[in-house]
Amino acid sequence: MKKLGFGCMRFPLLDENDVKSIDKPQVEAMFDRFLEQGFTYVDTAYPYHEGESERVVKAALVDRYPREAYKLATKLPTFLLKEKEDCARYFNEQLEKTGAGYFDYYLIHCLTTDLYETAKKCDAFAFAAAMKAEGKVKEFGFSFHDTPEKLDEILTAHPEVDFVQLQINYLDWEALNVQSRGCYEVARKHKKEIVVMEPVKGGSLIRVPDEVAATFKEADPNRSIASWAIRFAASLDGVRMVLSGMSNTEQMEDNLSYMDAFEPLSEAEMDMVLRAGEQIRKTIAIPCTACEYCVAGCPMHICIPDYFKLYNERKQTLSAGKSKAYDELHATHGKASACVACGQCESICPQHLPIIENLRLVAETFEG
Ligand code: SF4
Ligand code: SF4
Repeated sequence: MKKLGFGCMRFPLLDENDVKSIDKPQVEAMFDRFLEQGFTYVDTAYPYHEGESERVVKAALVDRYPREAYKLATKLPTFLLKEKEDCARYFNEQLEKTGAGYFDYYLIHCLTTDLYETAKKCDAFAFAAAMKAEGKVKEFGFSFHDTPEKLDEILTAHPEVDFVQLQINYLDWEALNVQSRGCYEVARKHKKEIVVMEPVKGGSLIRVPDEVAATFKEADPNRSIASWAIRFAASLDGVRMVLSGMSNTEQMEDNLSYMDAFEPLSEAEMDMVLRAGEQIRKTIAIPCTACEYCVAGCPMHICIPDYFKLYNERKQTLSAGKSKAYDELHATHGKASACVACGQCESICPQHLPIIENLRLVAETFEG
């Protein structure tokens, strides 16, 4: 199977401020191109686009192609589970929403130390195994956002999982809050194949600092900046798939261009890319991936990732003063200073960011 998967968490939008306003004709055209080029892996999840992603997958893919034309992955929303019966309830809802009949891959979503406890309490692993035995799921695994030690614990307790999904990119390879390398090595020790998520870190590795971009262009003027990130992840042994959350046709064409006849990076190129990651890490103030997991539960309706994006841009451009974009955002959302430090967001953030402290910096920068 070709190693590029279509991540359905960042579909093109008609209105940038409304994650449910998915540009369906463009998504249909993107699926058409993707399948036409021989790619098949499509990855969605219950919460993406506030629940709209699975519906759009149905309309743009499932209803328009024979079932064997694609492989569909979706995920059990671990963070919504309260009791055992919820597993079947969400699963059946997902089967209905996607109309897919069965899932090629089913993942227990976003395991962290806390959510692993939820998964255990609600028997999520046994549920996924039962769905596999019934043929409603072909393979099952989990996506993971915690330490290598926790991953080792889970894989030791659950040797039955078929694969794991990990956040791997050259920026986080040695980052202490993500530990891509450590998690990768644990998965390999357990002989699990890996699906890679966030290879371009929510788009951060598409726009890199000028000096890093110059290094990449010198190495190969014909390759895009994003290509180095995707090819880095796809070059690692045991990686079966690299997911890219493609947001428009242009990004998709770029991804297809180098993943069609994929060439792994050489050892020297791997070293160059990892050195670039070190350089970039020094310039990013808040390494938020804009996954939006923190947003739905915020009692003050603070648009956390949007504020962090503005803050990072501000730090990179070294500008100062008020921001029109910030003023527009807080007209419809809570201000950064409205945070009541309830901690909901920090408990769910897969990047383990100190969100409360970071919002204080945002408030000082834009409200002061
Ligand atoms: S800590 Fe602040 S930003 Fe986070 S959920 Fe609570 S109010 Fe919202
Ligand atoms: S702060 Fe964390 S949970 Fe929120 S969007 Fe950023 S990475 Fe995701």
